[in-house]
Amino acid sequence: MTDIKLDRSNIVDFIGDIFKRRGADSYLGEEVTMSEHMLQGALLAEEAGASDELIAAALLHDIGHYTNEFPEDALEKGINNHHDTAGAAVLMPFFPSVVTDCVLHHVAAKRYLCATDPTYFDRLSDASVHTLNLQGGPMSEDEVTEFEKSPNLKDIIQVRFWDEEGKVKGRTTPDFDYYAPVLQRVVDRYMNAA
Ligand code: FE
Repeated sequence: MTDIKLDRSNIVDFIGDIFKRRGADSYLGEEVTMSEHMLQGALLAEEAGASDELIAAALLHDIGHYTNEFPEDALEKGINNHHDTAGAAVLMPFFPSVVTDCVLHHVAAKRYLCATDPTYFDRLSDASVHTLNLQGGPMSEDEVTEFEKSPNLKDIIQVRFWDEEGKVKGRTTPDFDYYAPVLQRVVDRYMNAA
């Protein structure tokens, strides 16, 4: 925990510092580290020609595993220790809703796809199948109907696919600094418009 005051001028460096110090943490039973996983997601988004916003979402979707790094006031907004809601909450002041929705719903997207796409389950890693059960299993019909109301549904699903694919052992990617200007553009566009 830190008492640094986060603003648009330091948020990208702040996130980069978390990547550098904590990125070597293992990713829940996968064969890649946390930073490898998140950078692979960003690279997949970039290769697909995605917008800066979706590259940012892919890069930051698991940032909620590090919310203990954020200032206390960022954690006061009624968040729990679920990494999807926690991640969206710490990003909310700086990133547009398309980014925070993809972060907020990346676990729900897995539950949604398991309920609606018969081929999807086979794409999940063993660790992801394990957590699916802890996360409530496939969505019910009512949950599916509710989830489909999200204005960012398509993007949420797309980021989830990159999440799934970004678990390849030994794949080389650019480092965080390469993506820092992308994040800064997203932050600046959002805060200029606010
Ligand atoms: Fe992930």
